[in-house]
Amino acid sequence: MEKGIVFVISGPSGSGKSTIINRFIKKHKKDFFLSISATTREPRKGEIDKKDYYFYTKTKFKSNIKKNKFLEYAKVLDNFYGTPEKPVLDNINKGKNVIMDIDVRGANKIKTKLKNCVTVFMMPPDFNELEKRLRKRKTDSEKSIKKRLKLAKKELKERENYDYIIVNKDLKETINCLEIIIKLEKFRRYKI
Ligand code: 5GP
Repeated sequence: MEKGIVFVISGPSGSGKSTIINRFIKKHKKDFFLSISATTREPRKGEIDKKDYYFYTKTKFKSNIKKNKFLEYAKVLDNFYGTPEKPVLDNINKGKNVIMDIDVRGANKIKTKLKNCVTVFMMPPDFNELEKRLRKRKTDSEKSIKKRLKLAKKELKERENYDYIIVNKDLKETINCLEIIIKLEKFRRYKI
């Protein structure tokens, strides 16, 4: 049976990644599995455990690192984030595609570990727009916004290492771009 493809989406906080991914997965539930990461960060208002993230204590996170339960993990800002390995492997082995939202270091690790992986970098239309989005969502303190903007500048430089870059100007258009990429990548794999 043909294995599923792993689509890794990265981009700075405020680039609109989670909205895009959530809309996308609703539309493509049948063929796609959404990888839910584990994190030691506190849940934001409205976030639900096991749906948005597995919210772990540092102790539990570290114990899972020791047990090799993560496909990759990284410290982003002041917290740990990691991709649980089993659900990803189980799904690709049964032919289902996987989509995940992880940072640039995580994306690099996944690329070296999984052959069947496509990376997509989501760009905000411009830096001012990014700051506006971060402020509008009212989930981060001023200190956290500053840190996220600084990290965003650093992450934007990494976009050249990705297979595709999408400038997220419009929700519908971005989802359309993602669907085109997925179709193309499937055609490419028919050659193999
Ligand atoms: P946030 O705190 O805004 O939800 O996420 C902060 C950053 O952590 C984002 O850039 C997001 O892509 C990244 N992230 C989320 N889950 C994972 C993961 O499992 N692994 C890695 N390496 N980064 C992650």
